[in-house]
Amino acid sequence: MKILKFGGTSVGSPERMTKLLDIINPAEEQIVVLSAVSGTTNGLVEISGKLLKEDKQGALILINALNQKYNEFVIELLPEGDLREQGQEVVNYHFQFLTGLVNDIFTPAEEKVVLAQGELLSTTLYHIYLKAIDVPSVLLPALDFMKIDEDNEPDISFATANLTPLLDKHKGNKLFITQGFICRNSFGEVDNLRRGGSDYTASLIGAAILAEEVQIWTDIDGMHNNDPRIVKGTKPIAHLSFDEAAELAYFGAKILHPQSVFPAQKYKIPVRLLNTMEPSAAGTLISAESEKGKIKSIAAKDGLIAIRIQSSRMLLAYGFLRRIFEIFERYKTPIDMITTSEVAVSLTIDFTDNLDKILEELDTFGSVEIDREQTIVCVVGDFGAGKHGFASRVLDAIKHIPVRMISYGGSNYNISLLVNTGDKTEVLRSLHNRIFE
Ligand code: ADP
Ligand code: ASP
Ligand code: MG
Repeated sequence: MKILKFGGTSVGSPERMTKLLDIINPAEEQIVVLSAVSGTTNGLVEISGKLLKEDKQGALILINALNQKYNEFVIELLPEGDLREQGQEVVNYHFQFLTGLVNDIFTPAEEKVVLAQGELLSTTLYHIYLKAIDVPSVLLPALDFMKIDEDNEPDISFATANLTPLLDKHKGNKLFITQGFICRNSFGEVDNLRRGGSDYTASLIGAAILAEEVQIWTDIDGMHNNDPRIVKGTKPIAHLSFDEAAELAYFGAKILHPQSVFPAQKYKIPVRLLNTMEPSAAGTLISAESEKGKIKSIAAKDGLIAIRIQSSRMLLAYGFLRRIFEIFERYKTPIDMITTSEVAVSLTIDFTDNLDKILEELDTFGSVEIDREQTIVCVVGDFGAGKHGFASRVLDAIKHIPVRMISYGGSNYNISLLVNTGDKTEVLRSLHNRIFE
């Protein structure tokens, strides 16, 4: 069984949806994971924003505009007749539901349900389209098998236990469709895997049923060696190891959800990144093999805060770092990057909901300084033992730019630099010129 995930642009118009069959072979066993139609989740986020602020009028205007878009979508996607009517009923059902929320109490729990409407719509409409052209398929509700626990960690064994019987029930069917992104939380409420989460769904399903391969179909021909939105002349990378891909995804390469590589890596399922607009392009293969001694790619992650804790009590003391880390653990705040000297430690975080409380506790250790609007730039490749010259190439390329932190040697495949977000573009371009040109 293969898992094929199609992103927002790949299902972004009725024409694109109908073209999916150039890629999907209905005679092969596969689970197709769909994102919401591009723009929909952003629209739903905006609608929720209005409802959280009790701007009912503003929310209704946005709901009606999105509804109109879907009315047109259905007319273009489905031929006149019963199935078009069925599509129209589906659209009406979802938009009546959204409109009904306007006069009720609206909390973050309702917001999650609102955000789920995009994937529910795209998969149901695609399923009806397949019926219209006589291609048999089964629609699997992701909310019946995708679950996260109290720490937002997906439960793969729950997915295995609940998806396998669903697949068995429909033995003989080859083409299954399901929603990316959406899941239930530990209270059984509708939740999601965070923005861009359909990649994560695909990889989790791959792991849950030990699929032969996970394919992520998107609007670009694979992972490029730098951010194509910022740097000109970037090129696709033919092969990445799981570790390299995980670092790039985590440190900002938008083509992959930050956590999406881990399930595939753990269960050794190869992942291919492929281009829907150019299906014959080679794309990127992510697997356990690695190529030695090569710099592969550069990525950047914004929105970080650097915290420096300086204390003479740290000198020759033990247990100091543990006590600092415990504060972050207590406030469920992950640390991205860390550097130490004998009397100070600097670290970065991007989840800032509990920042004030963390700073208050850190204050008891010594002087605490913070820098906002920081960006991690991460250079990824194989810098294994015995290799030399990589760090100097990286630092030489950005010698004209102030660097707040440098992290090297934590793993064999990553050099990370923390810079002001305002310098990000220059850092990415300079590194690209020095390393790849
Ligand atoms: P989808 O909607 O299919 O999930 P995304 O927009 O989430 O697509 O991801 C694809 C986009 O990621 C590309 O269009 C590209 O602009 C962006 N991107 C950022 N960094 C990279 C990179 N290193 N390689 C390829 N694409 C990247
Ligand atoms: N529709 C969701 C989002 O826009 C999930 C995804 O596209 O992967 O974030
Ligand atoms: Mg995406």
